[in-house]
Amino acid sequence: MPWCEECSKFWNPNSMPPDGTCPSCGRVIGEPPSQSVPWHFWLLVIGVVVYLGWRCVQLFQWLVGSGHAAIAAILGVITAALVCWLAVWWLRSRRDNATEHHAGTGARGVSAAGGGAVGAVDRGAGDGGAGDGASDRGAGDGGAGDRD
Ligand SMILES: [Zn+2]
Repeated sequence: MPWCEECSKFWNPNSMPPDGTCPSCGRVIGEPPSQSVPWHFWLLVIGVVVYLGWRCVQLFQWLVGSGHAAIAAILGVITAALVCWLAVWWLRSRRDNATEHHAGTGARGVSAAGGGAVGAVDRGAGDGGAGDGASDRGAGDGGAGDRD
């Protein structure tokens, strides 16, 4: 469980915003939880791709067998172009993610060194939902304080 020194409080990882910051004061107190998709999703994707690939092979066999070799050739070219485009798009999105990640760590380093403003902007850009959650929890903390 992540511990926030500022608030003297343990936080349940499930109640924390996805960037690993304290819901109350916004300090980075833990590793952001992994956002990756589960392995069975990729198993499903591979299964669908293999199945569709096999159906395409059958379609080509049927086209060639029934004397539509020209159509089969055109479809083959279109499929190859589509696969190439997908591969390029996938590689590009991977590279973009990598550069974004590096920029993010850089900004965090600056704010940790005393910038502050950069970190605040980062958090503001996060999402409204996280902000709402923080204010809700803030109200709850007030109640706990009264009891003390
Ligand atoms: Zn805190």
